[in-house]
Amino acid sequence: MKGRLFILSAPSGAGKTTVCEALLEKTDRAKKAITTTTRPPRPGEKNGVDYFFLTEEEFKEKLAQGRFFEHALVYDYYYGSGRDYVESQLEAGYDMILVVDVQGARSIRELGVEAVFVYLLPPSLSELRRRLEGRKTDAPEVIEKRFTRARDELDRYRDYDYCVINDELETAVADLESVIRAERCRVKNYPRIVEKIIES
Ligand code: ADP
Repeated sequence: MKGRLFILSAPSGAGKTTVCEALLEKTDRAKKAITTTTRPPRPGEKNGVDYFFLTEEEFKEKLAQGRFFEHALVYDYYYGSGRDYVESQLEAGYDMILVVDVQGARSIRELGVEAVFVYLLPPSLSELRRRLEGRKTDAPEVIEKRFTRARDELDRYRDYDYCVINDELETAVADLESVIRAERCRVKNYPRIVEKIIES
């Protein structure tokens, strides 16, 4: 069976990286889509593992060919969700998880790509703030900016097919896994399978 494409968004700090990694440890049928970037690799980063690294010229060429689901320019570097890798993995039967922000998700929706949109929510704003602070990756003013943006973006849950609340990590991972499993059971995935059953 061909894999399905899942678009996962969440306000910054809600836990999409954590939930996604925990899910991928539990299943070998799903993979995270690798982002393509023109940012130079940091020490230890590997092409095809952490990112796909391209020159700006290569990136723009792919962009012109429509080979990205979505892209953004962040501090002079391009980042994009490349279609080639994702589509080949879907063909190979893997469910692909594409982690993008709400703007990226909107671009993908506008492309009309067949995908299941999942929004991860924090259990409360106070917990979201605790997580942003507890991560210890950002300066206080960056945390403040992320928090304000996160609060503004919460309402975008309406644009998605499923919501998962990331309160207890294990429950959130189980819920996301359930969404993926349910999507695999959709009738539209079954014509060829049922044909085989009838022939057997
Ligand atoms: P995002 O990728 O959405 O910005 P992260 O995955 O980096 O968020 O999570 C933000 C912080 O919250 C991290 O420090 C992470 O360890 C913590 N965190 C994530 N999920 C949970 C959870 N269910 N319970 C408690 N802390 C969590």
